[in-house]
Amino acid sequence: MFDINNLLRENIKRLVPYSSARDEYHGEARVFLDANENSFGSPLNQPYNRYPDPLQTEVKKRLSGIKGVPVPNIFLGNGSDEAIDVLFRSFCNPGIDNVILVPPTYGMYQVSANINDVEVKNIPLTEDYQLNLDGIAEAIDKNTKLIFICSPNNPTGNSIDRTDIETLLANFEGIVVVDEAYINFSRQKTFIQELTEYANLVVLQTLSKAWGLAGLRIGMAFASEEIIEVMNKVKPPYNINEASQQLALEALQNIERVNDWIKQTLVERDILVLNLKEFEFVLDIYPSDSNFILVKTNNARAIYNFLVAKGIIVRDRSKVELCEGCLRITVGTPTENLLLIKTLQDFNE
Ligand SMILES: *Cc1c(COP(=O)(O)O)cnc(C)c1O
Repeated sequence: MFDINNLLRENIKRLVPYSSARDEYHGEARVFLDANENSFGSPLNQPYNRYPDPLQTEVKKRLSGIKGVPVPNIFLGNGSDEAIDVLFRSFCNPGIDNVILVPPTYGMYQVSANINDVEVKNIPLTEDYQLNLDGIAEAIDKNTKLIFICSPNNPTGNSIDRTDIETLLANFEGIVVVDEAYINFSRQKTFIQELTEYANLVVLQTLSKAWGLAGLRIGMAFASEEIIEVMNKVKPPYNINEASQQLALEALQNIERVNDWIKQTLVERDILVLNLKEFEFVLDIYPSDSNFILVKTNNARAIYNFLVAKGIIVRDRSKVELCEGCLRITVGTPTENLLLIKTLQDFNE
């Protein structure tokens, strides 16, 4: 049923990727005179005078051990935002093809679609922030290439029903992208385990959230070898710089520290919810599987401005469809959360 050749843009099928010096020869050598680098060194005491590994093999090996996914099924992007863009450029013909989004959701899908001149069919989530499967089925046409599902979803915080995502995977002949940026905070299982089951599945994860490496810009896509091969062909050759690769390798050895932070975050999230519930201006707090909560208030803008004046920045999502009156609040350290609550005690409507 799924055939990648029915989905790929013709120019991408024909594409001969850029062949870098590092592609044409890799391995040990006495002297490298093949890439017009500075042979004397770099002003930093690191081998930054050399181009980085275009396929980030060492980082992927370590990720493979952590995630249980073979290296050929892993793509690394300059943030998952690059993986999103590469998917558009690989599969969507500008001005012809379309994708399905399920708002309210992560804003980059829409921006990436706009940049690539790809039509977006918006099928909003239901009132309880789940998929409208009938609406999605009706919207799919022969030019629908990608469906983006963010689970746990940003900005709502909840997980999307697993069986609904499986229904899409089983019935849609295009690609279902499951963005799991917040999976480390979720009670739900990752879809990575389903990669052998569904040829049309792409799972996105990132080092930007639980891993605490937003500044390094490293995102991951997990998919079939044939999809990953295409993504590697389309990406810029040296998309992850050497410093980021080195630092990621080091960071990925600190998994215990990260798991500790995840546990603390979940404890803090529960405390934050209990404390926020006490305020009269808080109308509702949505269940969260993430490191943030969506809080419905009776005056989002005023609360937002009040907090800004006190030096505390949250995200005003009150203008977003289905998020009327809502603020999105990231779970901070215990001290930060306490400061937020203490500050809000001075807010008078
Ligand atoms: C934060 C976030 C990302 C992360 O993007 P990076 O480019 O990897 O930093 C991806 N998807 C969602 C839904 C996010 O909220």
